Amino acid sequence: MNEIIPGTLYLVPTPIGNISDMTERAMHILQQADVVACEDTRHTGLLLHHLGVRSRLLSYHEHNKHEAGPRIIQLLEEGSTVALCSDAGMPVISDPGAELVRLAIDAGISVVPLPGPNAALTALIASGLDSRQFLFVGFLPKTNGKKERMLAEIKTLRVTLIFYEAPHRIKRTMRFLLDRLGNRPAVLARELTKKFETFQRGTLEELTKHLEMELPRGEYVILVAGTGEDTEADLPKDKGSWQEEAVTLAESHSVKEVSRLVAAKWDCSRREVYQFLLREGK
Ligand code: SAM
Repeated sequence: MNEIIPGTLYLVPTPIGNISDMTERAMHILQQADVVACEDTRHTGLLLHHLGVRSRLLSYHEHNKHEAGPRIIQLLEEGSTVALCSDAGMPVISDPGAELVRLAIDAGISVVPLPGPNAALTALIASGLDSRQFLFVGFLPKTNGKKERMLAEIKTLRVTLIFYEAPHRIKRTMRFLLDRLGNRPAVLARELTKKFETFQRGTLEELTKHLEMELPRGEYVILVAGTGEDTEADLPKDKGSWQEEAVTLAESHSVKEVSRLVAAKWDCSRREVYQFLLREGK
């Protein structure tokens, strides 16, 4: 086991549902750290208690990060060893921590990541979808405009798309994905590493219908196939997109003019249209 280095920020993953997935090294770091910074001190306190670890807990979350971050940096500068974990899985991945990592790098503090549990990759490797290339989208933005823009940007990608979603929004998000991406092969990975772990494989339409008949329970990762030769045939007739309109208009208008016209009509920016057309060789 490596020696722990004072004044280092360790990024420590914790299990996403199965306590046995705690690695020996992660346990060692949590045991040796002067401070464990975590999202919810009660939640992580229970985990540490279960593991027989007695380290000082310090809360670091979305709502106190502006005060807690500099305090943690000060502790690190004074030579304390800090382990950062989130409620479950990899800290920083759809969880707080990114800002603390940046603060630490700016302050010249060494940041040491530990590998470990992560819902997205765990879901991907058993999904059966293309795992050579994938895009981790995580949670979709909350506002409609941003959500639409993101979908417009990723809709044409050939790589597997991975989304996180809370159980109470899963049906709505599945319907939204079906509507915007078309009916593609998809997988719902539920309750990973837990007793009721399930993988539902089908098309977005089938899985959405299925979800609508049951009460969604537990945690889900949504995986959707990218556009590919084998999936294109499944896609319903497109309702149209700004990209298509931009390409058509570019036949008879300048790129600048098309950017202006399309951005005025669709929920996208001129810059986005402009750059899209350049990529398309217009
Ligand atoms: N940091 C975590 C990681 O590395 O995977 C992700 C935390 S994010 C706040 C929580 C989301 O991850 C959930 O809404 C769900 O989409 C996904 N997730 C976490 N644990 C899961 C599990 N056991 N099974 C399925 N999805 C899970």
